[in-house]
Amino acid sequence: MVMDISADKVVTAMNRTDGMFEVQAKAVILAMGCRERSRGALNIPGYRPAGIFSAGTAQRLVNMEGYMPGREVVILGSGDIGLIMARRMTLEGAKVKVVAELMPYSGGLKRNIVQCLDDFGIPLKLSHTVVDIEGKERVEGITIAKVDDKGKPIPGTEEHYTCDTLLLSCGLIPENELSRGIGIDMSPVTSGPLVNESLQTNVEGIFACGNVLHVHDLVDFVSEEAAAAGKNAVKYINDGMKSVETKEVKIVPESGVRYTVPVTVHPEVMNDEMIVRFRVGAVYQNHYVAVYLDGERIQHKKRQIMAPGEMEQVKLDKETLMKYPNLSKITIKLEEE
Ligand SMILES: Cc1cc2nc3c(=O)[nH]c(=O)nc-3n(C[C@H](O)[C@H](O)[C@H](O)COP(=O)(O)OP(=O)(O)OC[C@H]3O[C@@H](n4cnc5c(N)ncnc54)[C@H](O)[C@@H]3O)c2cc1C
Repeated sequence: MVMDISADKVVTAMNRTDGMFEVQAKAVILAMGCRERSRGALNIPGYRPAGIFSAGTAQRLVNMEGYMPGREVVILGSGDIGLIMARRMTLEGAKVKVVAELMPYSGGLKRNIVQCLDDFGIPLKLSHTVVDIEGKERVEGITIAKVDDKGKPIPGTEEHYTCDTLLLSCGLIPENELSRGIGIDMSPVTSGPLVNESLQTNVEGIFACGNVLHVHDLVDFVSEEAAAAGKNAVKYINDGMKSVETKEVKIVPESGVRYTVPVTVHPEVMNDEMIVRFRVGAVYQNHYVAVYLDGERIQHKKRQIMAPGEMEQVKLDKETLMKYPNLSKITIKLEEE
């Protein structure tokens, strides 16, 4: 386990055989992933009976250890893990009574809502949260209520479900304690490091990829990003950091785009093509994703539907960016027309 990383890339780690030791790295790739938001972080009132699991813990118990966490289940949170566990628990013989979601939209992929809930007749209650957990030794029932636009439960809208299990799937938190310790600039939106086109942070030779950088919807994108971080770290070791000597262009999210990864690009040293990933802040229908180089629009693509649960991307190519030697910012935004 890595305990500390210094800005000059000394990694302090420990294991059972060697105890505590240090490694002087030439480059470091941060890939610590995420942890699940716990019940403590959610402020749900009530006792602390058995039967409350994070969806990831339940997934491990069912898929890897062969135990059923319970028979009658309520799920709070409609991110992909919550949706997938609704289906898994159903296939394993449990009754999933409802999936409650605080937001007015699901945090998961559309295909997971269809394949994991609709196909099994499991209701999804949007704008709902758990307001009470019954049971002292074991969960005996859950009360959910509708919430207003500030996320506050509305009195009189309570619905009670008898159940023995509550699965919490309420988001992932990037594991960035080490990153902050190094002094890396962080995004307040993703809670991950701010990186350039090489996935390099503001600390020279320290790269980041995967869920520690921003929460991904699919592991396939994590793998792509990880491969790129690996190649870039090797390039850094062999060639040094060429990008600092070249022009840096900011990538700015606007009008519905919450963030982008990366946040800067050095056109002269970028690969022929690069992918900018982002998420939108609400559900948008029939909107266009537009890319501007300073004031000039160079991309305008219609999307039937975009939702916060699905990562979006645009491709930028070096040839185009190099045609704008005075370029100061690339803006990615949503437009109605
Ligand atoms: C419960 C759950 C279910 C999921 N199901 C799916 C699915 O069905 N399909 C899908 O496509 N995606 C799924 N995902 C998403 C997918 O798992 C992630 O996108 C992917 O694993 C992220 O990869 P990563 O390498 O960034 O992080 P991780 O896979 O989380 O790897 C991070 C690793 O870093 C280690 N680590 C952290 N801190 C330290 C430290 N200080 N020292 C040493 N090691 C450390 C961790 O122990 C961990 O092994 C799921 C995610 C979760 C949480």
